[in-house]
Amino acid sequence: MQLPVWISNGKLTGGFVIEKPILTQISANGPLLIVSSAPEKLNLLDLDRKAMEAWFMDLGEKAFHARQVLKWIHKHQVTDFDAMTDIGKSLRAKLKEIACIEIPEIAVEQASEDGTRKWLMELECGNRIETVFIPDGDRGTLCVSSQVGCALDCTFCSTARQGFNRNLSVAEIIGQVWLAKREISPERSLTNIVMMGMGEPLANLENVVIAMGIMMDDLAYELSKRRVTLSTAGIVPALDRLKALSDVSLAVSLHAPNDELRDQLVPLNRKYPIQELLAACRRYVAGERRKVTFEYVMLDGVNDSDRHARQLVKLLEGVPAKVNLIPFNPFPLTRFKRSSTPRIEAFQAILMRAGLITITRRTRGDDIDAACGQLVGRVADRSRRRRGAKERNLRNLETAAAKTVELGKYSFQGSK
Ligand code: SAH
Repeated sequence: MQLPVWISNGKLTGGFVIEKPILTQISANGPLLIVSSAPEKLNLLDLDRKAMEAWFMDLGEKAFHARQVLKWIHKHQVTDFDAMTDIGKSLRAKLKEIACIEIPEIAVEQASEDGTRKWLMELECGNRIETVFIPDGDRGTLCVSSQVGCALDCTFCSTARQGFNRNLSVAEIIGQVWLAKREISPERSLTNIVMMGMGEPLANLENVVIAMGIMMDDLAYELSKRRVTLSTAGIVPALDRLKALSDVSLAVSLHAPNDELRDQLVPLNRKYPIQELLAACRRYVAGERRKVTFEYVMLDGVNDSDRHARQLVKLLEGVPAKVNLIPFNPFPLTRFKRSSTPRIEAFQAILMRAGLITITRRTRGDDIDAACGQLVGRVADRSRRRRGAKERNLRNLETAAAKTVELGKYSFQGSK
């Protein structure tokens, strides 16, 4: 099929917008392509304070409107411009014309017996991501995804099984926080955010940094830098860039005390071996009193012996470190097994005796596959999802049909 236009990321050159779901629908019956001439609305969820101020100024408006809008969106959870009562009517009308506030859609929610909640969110083109809320006393930790899938291929992680699909936008990252806040309020609040969901956050550095900025903004989620943690498998150059752009807390997925074993478990190690990674970690916290958290998954008979523990102690000498042991969370068809509790305790005791602060992460939400490494965007309730998708497709069809009637001159016809 030859099309008269270039399509890239859903946009047509010349500022036209393509209705993707329609394209799929129509192309099943013939090569007709419907294009609407409506310029794409800007999703304000994509903007942090600085970007929004610049945007308002570009519109010829005062920068302070950015503060108002940010507060409405993130603090008051308002997505309807008409409800933003401290903004003048004419500006509100203008905003409605050119902008939108679009939140990802929750497709399925699951709740664990231990209070953990997991949401599967449906994005454009049927992509799915998962977000997990873990309550613990007064604390409420949200585990946020940064990519659809993951390209790193760690052998013990089920997200790796689905491969990599794409980076999440700022709106899709901060949208997870927005939705979680709505779902847990008013009983609970978000006190901590960890970028430990699906994906490698440093592989989507730019969007992740902007989204984390919104998490820490007083006009939005007001979290301190100690309460926002980015976890990485160790993309060394990106770690240095992160330091230049942000100052969130850092967690590193180490999982092995030597290169030979880490090469197997975390293939990225072949590119950035342990000593290079540790040097980058030292640079990240240089001149500060804080420590890097090293995550270490406990795999039965693989990395959990006394010898491994002693190697780990030696390796982390001189690194401002704490260690987080994660009992392996199994998933279908994995060859790994979780270390026994006595083994994990013995391993932890060796680290503690050497003066390393070490905690063993409690496994939470494993009955709903919400534990570390179990997030795959799998859909549990297929019938409901299919129904939802059908209804959405229908809605999309209707809007596009309306637009096409209105803008008939922009309909293009392709030929096979
Ligand atoms: N890509 C980033 C973010 C993922 S964070 C990173 O690698 O750090 C999720 C944490 O859970 C990482 O430490 C990851 O290695 C760990 N993990 C992955 N699969 C796991 C599993 N099956 N059981 C326990 N921990 C796992």
